[in-house]
Amino acid sequence: MMTLPLVSTVRARSVDVPMARPLRTASGSIPTAPLLLLDVVTESGVVGHAYLFAYSRLMLPAMTAIVGEVASGLAGRSIAPTRYMHDMRREFRLLGTQGLLGMVLSGIEMALWDAFGKTVDQPVATLLGGAPVALRAYDSYGMVDLPRDEAALRESVESGFQAVKIKIGYPDADHDVAVVRRVREIVGDDVELMVDYTQALDPPEACRRIRRLRDFDLYWVEEPVAAEDLAGHSFVRRATRARIQTGENWWFPEGCRAAIAASASDFAMFDLMKIGGFTGWMLAAGQAHAASLPVSSHLFVEASAHAMAVTPTGGWMEYLDLAGAILQDPCRPVDGHVTAAGPGLGITWNEAAIERYAV
Ligand SMILES: [Mg+2]
Repeated sequence: MMTLPLVSTVRARSVDVPMARPLRTASGSIPTAPLLLLDVVTESGVVGHAYLFAYSRLMLPAMTAIVGEVASGLAGRSIAPTRYMHDMRREFRLLGTQGLLGMVLSGIEMALWDAFGKTVDQPVATLLGGAPVALRAYDSYGMVDLPRDEAALRESVESGFQAVKIKIGYPDADHDVAVVRRVREIVGDDVELMVDYTQALDPPEACRRIRRLRDFDLYWVEEPVAAEDLAGHSFVRRATRARIQTGENWWFPEGCRAAIAASASDFAMFDLMKIGGFTGWMLAAGQAHAASLPVSSHLFVEASAHAMAVTPTGGWMEYLDLAGAILQDPCRPVDGHVTAAGPGLGITWNEAAIERYAV
């Protein structure tokens, strides 16, 4: 019987990489992607990779320090990722695992899966009981700048995307309506259109604004109010009858449970870094299945494509290129679909680019 290799060390490197499309949102702009690159080095020589999105460059040093502390307890342990996650959550029960610690634990868990997959020369989707499949994806935009982004939107549709998401929540509600109207004209009626308020509104204002978007056949309205305001999401859902999407800020499967209990969402959106890696994703996916909620991914295209391949109520993948600039073979959509690569997570670093964008 094969035994899994033991962890030797965990390395973390900080980069700040240019994005194909800088992300403008109603709650702040992200011109470049501050990423923490993780390498789990095993005693067999296999190295597992994963990356984390720090949102702000200011968080990179703190996350690096947490990796160092968590890694010291990992040396000599089996790479078995699910056991690792359960043990870590128990170990940090009193502190709690939301925030930077949870992000680091999830990132290491993803890198352990990558090491596991490379050890047995299989994609993670296969280890999870499925196989890589072509998953329909939506092209994810920030706040668009019209008419400058018109060509890009047309290109999204021409390249095969059957769904597009834009961020709205401009200071002036009329601006929201004008942008959504224009984007609907550009992409046409056959393409699904989602909008994302990135938590910018309060419930009364969200109701007022969403009612004005009734005519544009929106597939979902994402995070109209603060992510942690589950009652607010539920209120907006009932008051507007719009299909509400939320979930990218649910922490671990317990976050999913609370949102379902509050009837906060018509969909579920898991972020591998916040839901607790693949271990958390699978537990949350079971809840979404039981509640008949279609599941979408958030960021982390390469890794999410493995999880989505085994998610029973898997819906639209998000396609947003966060790390393409530092990857050897970035995950590229084909005819609006994304397919997981392997072995492991299919992540190979572009070392020259990492050096160029090192923080
Ligand atoms: Mg969002």
